[in-house]
Amino acid sequence: MDSPNVLFTAPSAGTKNATLICVPIMGETIEKMKIDVQKAKAEGADVAEIRLDSLSNIDPYQDLTALIQHRVLPLLFTYRPKWEGGMYDGDENKRLDALRLAMELGADYIDVELQVAHAFYDSIRGKTFNKTKVIVSSHNYQLTPSIEDLGNLVARIQATGADIVKIATTATDITDVARMFQIMVHSQSMVKRKLMGNSVEEGRTNMSSGYIYEEIRTEVPFIGLVMGDRGLISRILCAKFGGYLTFGTLESGVVSAPGQPTLQDLLYLYNLRQVAPDTKVYGIIGKPVGHSKSPILFNEVFKSVGYNGVYVFLLVDDLANFLRTYSSTDFVGFSVTIPHKEAALECCDEVDPVAKSIGAVNCIIRRPTDGKLIGYNTDYVGAISAIEDGLRGKHNGGSTNISPLAGKLFVVIGAGGAGKALAYGAKEKGARVVIANRTYDRARELADAIGGDALTLSDLDSYHPEDSMILANTTSIGMQPKVDDTPISKHALKYYTLVFDAVYTPKITRLLKEAEESGATIVTGLEMFMGQAYGQYENFTGLPAPKELFRKIMEKY
Ligand code: NAP
Repeated sequence: MDSPNVLFTAPSAGTKNATLICVPIMGETIEKMKIDVQKAKAEGADVAEIRLDSLSNIDPYQDLTALIQHRVLPLLFTYRPKWEGGMYDGDENKRLDALRLAMELGADYIDVELQVAHAFYDSIRGKTFNKTKVIVSSHNYQLTPSIEDLGNLVARIQATGADIVKIATTATDITDVARMFQIMVHSQSMVKRKLMGNSVEEGRTNMSSGYIYEEIRTEVPFIGLVMGDRGLISRILCAKFGGYLTFGTLESGVVSAPGQPTLQDLLYLYNLRQVAPDTKVYGIIGKPVGHSKSPILFNEVFKSVGYNGVYVFLLVDDLANFLRTYSSTDFVGFSVTIPHKEAALECCDEVDPVAKSIGAVNCIIRRPTDGKLIGYNTDYVGAISAIEDGLRGKHNGGSTNISPLAGKLFVVIGAGGAGKALAYGAKEKGARVVIANRTYDRARELADAIGGDALTLSDLDSYHPEDSMILANTTSIGMQPKVDDTPISKHALKYYTLVFDAVYTPKITRLLKEAEESGATIVTGLEMFMGQAYGQYENFTGLPAPKELFRKIMEKY
């Protein structure tokens, strides 16, 4: 039977890459699947993957016909067995029969697991299915193999006769993804040689025979994805490195494999259609990192000003290993957050003198001329100017050359990267600085470095040598999801005239709420966030930061 002619083989117009966005459709009924395919189409997907193994009942002929005849998107049929990480636990012949039927009915793609691919191809030999492309897939739910093993796997999959190679592995570390990118790039530069009109496969012909060959670069369509939180960049940057397809879900968390982003995030957070081979990659390095608003901010600014960059979350365990692995010029700049700001100081080839004095780096760029990593600290300017603005607003409404911080007693909670930046900045502005930290020795060390006093966190509630002090929380206490936590009792807040919290998820933390109720001026972490982001943007792009645009974007969130 022939199917309606819905040939959608390329992504939507205006896209700068050929990577298709596929929505996995995991319904228990055909009706639900049809609705979800419509939604996927309406939201901008290129392909829908019908996960037949998610159906609670299946009548292959009736169900496949219903799906294929009325499709509004190209359909990929996958019937994943339990032995390959899927949900199907029935008769193997029936499973493969359904996939063969999908081909007969004109499916655009089917997915066949490598383990059964040879047998499957044997069973369809001699039959012609003009339309259907066969994806031969291999999944590894434990790890990502070595580059040699990945290369061998690609060769084994190609040897089956696959139209498209799919390899999905698991990231135990973000550096695992680099191997997938390498294989992806390599798979596109495979060369077939054409012998004066007759195509021959490379390797089958003696190339030193004196015949004239024409070399043609042919793409081997390759889907290479690395599962898990640490593999997220594989799902975005495959558009830069030439992946054939990536998956985006209709709903957050309703995934067919661990780590899949939503279709909306692919399209609107990462602007996937605009990612091109020469797109510069930026990202925020942290652990945890998912709370950061930097990807929203930078991607939207890049898009608004037409800058060719993409900004991703980088869940990094070992900073030195990460920077060593992603050392190509594609990876141009990084923001650095908890807990890597101090380690970043050691990993850079050169460090700006202010960052060196602070002892923490929150921005790394790769210098284009020699590839060296240069570290900066933009945290302190952002935080200190926001606090100064807060004090000026409260006391005299205008700005003077003398910092309103001069002579004030400035209590910093925390002695990590942000704590060091605040302590350094307050000292520079003439404040008397006191550090309170969970680990007293770190508080002492920082206090000694800048010429201040040290407290333990438990001393803080009873600390009130004078009134009108300034308090800055630079720990993650109170950050989502632990929004009920606070570093200091409410009764102690009455001695402070201004309270600042570096935490910005949520915008108003419990600390800020209680400080406001106690009569203090409050300054949110969002102000610091924007201040430090201006500096990062300028380091990343060499362009002045469009400050109004930054503010407008952040007001939406
Ligand atoms: P960091 O270098 O890892 O330092 C963390 C600090 O928090 C350390 O002093 C640590 O104390 C303390 N701490 C962590 N968990 C604690 C807990 N449960 N109880 C008591 N103290 C705890 O991190 P960072 O880069 O400075 O970042 C700290 C916070 O500031 C994060 O929430 C981050 O999101 C936020 N931040 C915001 C901005 C912004 O733009 N608004 C910029 C930078 C950072 P120990 O020394 O005892 O371990």
